[in-house]
Amino acid sequence: MKPDLLPSSNRLYFDHAATTPLRPEVVAAMEPYYAKLGYNPSSLHAEGRAARAAVDRAREVVAGVLNARPREIVFTSGGTEADNLAILGVARAVRDRGRHIVSTAIEHSAVLAALDQLRDQGWEVTLVEVDRNGVVDPERFRAALRPETVLATVMLANNEIGTIEPIAELASIAHERGVLFHTDAVQAAGQLSLAVDALGVDLMTLSAHKFYGPKGVGILYVRGGTPLAPLIVGGGQERGLRSGTENVAGIIGAAEALRLAEEERDDYVVEITNLRDRLEAAVAAIPDSRINGAGAPRLPNNLSVSFAGVQADALLIRLDLEGVAASNGSACAAGSTQPSHVLQAIGLEPAFVGGTIRLSLGKGLDAASVRRVGELLPELVGELRAAAPV
Ligand code: PLP
Repeated sequence: MKPDLLPSSNRLYFDHAATTPLRPEVVAAMEPYYAKLGYNPSSLHAEGRAARAAVDRAREVVAGVLNARPREIVFTSGGTEADNLAILGVARAVRDRGRHIVSTAIEHSAVLAALDQLRDQGWEVTLVEVDRNGVVDPERFRAALRPETVLATVMLANNEIGTIEPIAELASIAHERGVLFHTDAVQAAGQLSLAVDALGVDLMTLSAHKFYGPKGVGILYVRGGTPLAPLIVGGGQERGLRSGTENVAGIIGAAEALRLAEEERDDYVVEITNLRDRLEAAVAAIPDSRINGAGAPRLPNNLSVSFAGVQADALLIRLDLEGVAASNGSACAAGSTQPSHVLQAIGLEPAFVGGTIRLSLGKGLDAASVRRVGELLPELVGELRAAAPV
């Protein structure tokens, strides 16, 4: 089967929050484990032992980046499964202690849908409101905790508008009250520190395809002693927390991608902030536009911008035709046309909600790419407004 080819090789990819391409070093690290070394780590023969040793090394590498211990790392099939395991797994393990969970209105659907399942089972869930930049106020968070609260889950950085939450402070408030704390750090990897000791979290989710690793590999950090019941049972792999033969090549790729992302993080953040700020300056000059989340700490690669009187879909199609791949926020909510729950939660005026696009930067983009989009957007927005004035 031939792969589908892109229309041209000089496209500009501005959708790194949806996914990132595999980097060549990661492909090279994974390749032997697809071909020659593709054995089962649970087998006792030399082939199996080699695969086990490789998975063990990968676990050590991931633990090193997180300042955690290797036995605190659980590999899953992705960020969604890691979020589900954290929330549903803790809920199952501690349901006799209390049945209340605190979260926020701007979480990813992998968290919100897991919370919905718990609601259906009689749990109570409080979603703490956020401010106009998407930030959770620690005092509101504190007020939401109850004697029967067992878990709080708040994302480290938002996938639509990039807002960075005060996780260390929130986790410390949760712990004062004996409440376990999970964070979805899927969007933060490669851009923010993932040191779990400084963040103070009990559980943390990562997904390799957001940091130039393979799709279908997630990581759940589980602090030693945290009560957690498995969702997938069987052969008892991953210390019984996630059964199923390990995705050896994927795990090797995830570890290598995370190692490289951490090694390059400081330089990457400087470079990507600089590009984002240049693009932001060009975009902010467009009349009746608004940069979302700009008044709070934000991921360096995120630019969420709303144009009043423009339909985001129409703008995205025009950008696509011009060779620019961008998105309307959450590619993860497959094909959704519902107004974004995040934009609603930050109280964005309806005139802006429908005209919001997300430009998420990453490797492979340079000053020229950013200049091109910075020139294109005013033109396209002007044309769309002229064609269908509101
Ligand atoms: N959490 C956040 C914040 C995300 O952006 C995503 C994106 O897909 C996920 C979870 C789900 O991760 P995965 O695609 O690996 O299932």
